[in-house]
Amino acid sequence: MNEFSFQTRAQSLERFKREKFDLLVIGGGIIGAAVARDASSRGMKVALVERKDFAFGTSSRSSKLIHGGLRYLQNMEFHLVFEALSERALLLKTVPHMVRPLPFFLPVYDGDKPGKGLLSMGLWLYDLLSLFRAPGFHKRLSKDKLLEAIPYLKKEGLQGGFSYFDASMWDDVLTVETLRSANRMGAAVANYVEALSPVWTADRITGFRVCDLECTGANRNFEINASRVVVCAGPWTDQMGSRLSKDWKNWIEPSKGVHLIFDLKRIPIPGAMVMTNKDDGRISFVIPRPDFGAGVVIVGTTDGPAPALAEDAGVAAADVDYLMALLNDYFPELKLRASDIISAYVGVRPLFGSNTESLQKVSREHHIDVGPGGTVVVAGGKYTTHRKMGEEIVDFALRIWREDLREGKGATFPRGLTSSRTKAPVNPKASPEAIDECRRDAARQSASIPEELFHRYGAGVLDVLELQKSQPPKANSVADPDGFPMLSAQLRHAIRSEMVMHLEDFYLRRLPLYSTRADHGMPWAEALARVWGEERGATDAEVQTELSHLRAEVAKRSEWKLKL
Ligand SMILES: Cc1cc2nc3c(=O)[nH]c(=O)nc-3n(C[C@H](O)[C@H](O)[C@H](O)COP(=O)(O)OP(=O)(O)OC[C@H]3O[C@@H](n4cnc5c(N)ncnc54)[C@H](O)[C@@H]3O)c2cc1C
Repeated sequence: MNEFSFQTRAQSLERFKREKFDLLVIGGGIIGAAVARDASSRGMKVALVERKDFAFGTSSRSSKLIHGGLRYLQNMEFHLVFEALSERALLLKTVPHMVRPLPFFLPVYDGDKPGKGLLSMGLWLYDLLSLFRAPGFHKRLSKDKLLEAIPYLKKEGLQGGFSYFDASMWDDVLTVETLRSANRMGAAVANYVEALSPVWTADRITGFRVCDLECTGANRNFEINASRVVVCAGPWTDQMGSRLSKDWKNWIEPSKGVHLIFDLKRIPIPGAMVMTNKDDGRISFVIPRPDFGAGVVIVGTTDGPAPALAEDAGVAAADVDYLMALLNDYFPELKLRASDIISAYVGVRPLFGSNTESLQKVSREHHIDVGPGGTVVVAGGKYTTHRKMGEEIVDFALRIWREDLREGKGATFPRGLTSSRTKAPVNPKASPEAIDECRRDAARQSASIPEELFHRYGAGVLDVLELQKSQPPKANSVADPDGFPMLSAQLRHAIRSEMVMHLEDFYLRRLPLYSTRADHGMPWAEALARVWGEERGATDAEVQTELSHLRAEVAKRSEWKLKL
């Protein structure tokens, strides 16, 4: 088993205090994770701190798609689409367990803009820009063919449509696997460590004062020394910017995106579907996730202005009304009601730059720049292009580092660096070869492994099975829920290999237990809290505190229901 546990975290904290790093990355979302992995793969000495759990921010609240971004063709952002499609091809190959081909349906109605002609051209271009490495190519569909696939689709004015391919993924788990990979390559990585204020040496930032939020003792605050600091704080970029300098000028144009989750049985759709709001031209998706718990459909997203503090963004009744109206317009026969919603979540896009005319038109292209004291600050981007972005950010950091040295500023340059090595599988146990071998072994031994476990762990499923066999018989006092076949062993695995510190991390970001069940997995909370206590060597009182934190977080995340 690849250890990436609370003990790994403790070792990272020791290293933070003792060593001098080439790079300190602030922010454990997908972008910080990609930077840490890329820099470590080149031989740099890297530290990364995340003040909450990994992927706590935008990186666990996305639409969970790896996509070229068909809609960006409208803005003529061909370079962005080409880059995203190339990365999609790579991720489908190197993260085959979690990044999986997903067919999309695009219905066209009388009066739709763009109409069939333009869409057809756009989809040809989409296939072309993928260099024909798409999991499948687009098809024109007659009205009958479309209704065969989605019989409850609104028939009035329906002209037919198209199908094409993109991919689905597990966003939060991809972030954790990327960080584990960085750690395997030497990075010191820790969640629940907040970057407080910069350490200045003359006119350079040479480290950060940080706080270990898991520690209550006097030594919870200390300094991490690093030649360069890279800020990957997503929607918190401006808050971090003002910690770097009082003259910081805001970068981010935050945009709020809300998703609703339904039972797949309630919207039994065979692929994702694109919906266009006729009034404002905005696009939302209906995304089936049979691999999430017992099977759900994610519907989203809205796209609207967000409050300055990302923490303040919530699911508003207007967001729910907006998506429900769209759904009932496209699927009138399903008669969906707000009471069908299992859960909802909100994410804030850290979009760079401003274009007040329309948030949809703000470019998704990322922005990398030199910040105060020689820091590197990053904003924007997409999950799909995270690997490439990590590479670009490290290239950028090295370039300005060399320039500084030429001008006699800054610290010595790291020696013996290689080129980036991030095209390899992020998790060796989930390479196509490892998964095939694992399936063959299981077949030889006539062992039946639930398919959903392959989707989540690749060949790492064997570690979960091992834990399942070795745990005491009464580890879980209630039968496992549908879609989560080995819940307590999965928790043990998450604590040992995915740096789960708290039950909340497990419920919200390692497994979709909260989001895919109407009971939010709470009937299993006590049994899982006991398993957490065993793994962490916690007292009964600590187990009870953990349980009450989980209950409070679940209640907070469900507050939007009271507003309806
Ligand atoms: C609604 C929505 C849907 C999306 N869907 C898709 C999609 O389907 N496909 C796609 O490719 N992209 C998608 N995106 C874009 C993608 O999800 C984001 O670009 C990406 O997750 C941003 O990652 P990040 O690391 O920059 O930010 P974040 O994930 O927010 O990470 C920043 C981290 O910094 C931490 N932090 C902040 N301050 C401090 C501090 N002082 N000390 C330590 N840590 C700190 C935060 O806690 C946070 O975890 C979507 C975005 C949104 C909002």
